[in-house]
Amino acid sequence: MAFSPTLYTPTSTPLPSLSLPHTSVSVLGSTAHSSTRLRSMSAKNPPGYLSVLHRAVVEEEEYRKARAEVNRKGTELEGLSVEGFSIGGLETCIVLPTFNSVFDIGRCPSRAVNQDFLFITHAHLDHIGALPMYLATRSLYSLKPPTVFVPPCIKEDVERLLEIHCTMSNVELNVDLVALDVGETYEIRNDLVARPFKTHHVIPSQGYIIYSLRKKLKKKYAHLNGSQIKKLKNQGVEITDLILVPEVAITGDTTSDFILDPKNSDALRAKVLITEATFLDEENDVEHAKEHGHMHIFEIMEHAQWFQNKAILLTHFSSRYTVEDIRVAVSKLQSKLSCKVVPLTEGFRSAYT
Ligand SMILES: [Zn+2]
Ligand SMILES: [Zn+2]
Repeated sequence: MAFSPTLYTPTSTPLPSLSLPHTSVSVLGSTAHSSTRLRSMSAKNPPGYLSVLHRAVVEEEEYRKARAEVNRKGTELEGLSVEGFSIGGLETCIVLPTFNSVFDIGRCPSRAVNQDFLFITHAHLDHIGALPMYLATRSLYSLKPPTVFVPPCIKEDVERLLEIHCTMSNVELNVDLVALDVGETYEIRNDLVARPFKTHHVIPSQGYIIYSLRKKLKKKYAHLNGSQIKKLKNQGVEITDLILVPEVAITGDTTSDFILDPKNSDALRAKVLITEATFLDEENDVEHAKEHGHMHIFEIMEHAQWFQNKAILLTHFSSRYTVEDIRVAVSKLQSKLSCKVVPLTEGFRSAYT
């Protein structure tokens, strides 16, 4: 495949060829490839019909810059940068660059490619469809094989799927595929671990919690002052315990049943919870949401008391809703919730456009 690596980074994308045929044209007495020639003239303000082309080039460049800004747009939650898309049934891909991680890969935005860890919540195509493309693109840019976590029950099917892609396209898809079960722990960095938790969907599914490893003074030394603690430390006494602090929990698709599972308490006290609210209106009610393995925003209101998270990112709204529908629905949340809930509306249409 003849891709140029410079095409990958939006800011370094070369100027397009304006859809003009790639033929040689004679301009001002010299012969040049059309796009090369137009590029070289863009700084000169050429006269006549050339100025029209010049303007087109500039406009195209401005459009690309604006588009790149849109692609880079992210949300900041409790100091955690969150990027990506999540549109129910179409695509979910949540990128957390702080943790070098991506959660689900329905389609493969360029920002996802750089992340070394990918967590798959379940096998619906809007969550796993772009896995081969993610692997192929990393390989194209000579990035190391990523670690991809999947629910154990789909590991063999994923392996077969990737084998078929390798055979069909005659390329290698290098990956460290890890079946990570609910309750198991995997160290993704020396101060970060990942652990799946149970969610409830129409097919097997699981969410993930990323914990940071922190040292905390042992209880038995809590009454000591600074110099006494320092003295113990100098004597080589182990004065701290290692504790796991839930930083972020991502549910993927689930019914509200995950909220009531006592084993999921860490998800509900993680600093940031990223969960779903596929349905927002009376017509597609709570029963409809449950039937389809999803959550209704009314259930988030109903269970408000259980969310101890500092911030909640709502995702996976049905594509039937506009940005305005989503904002209205979120504005109706009780104040206890509305102060910490942010909807991920990237990619949704507006009623005004
Ligand atoms: Zn989905
Ligand atoms: Zn699903």
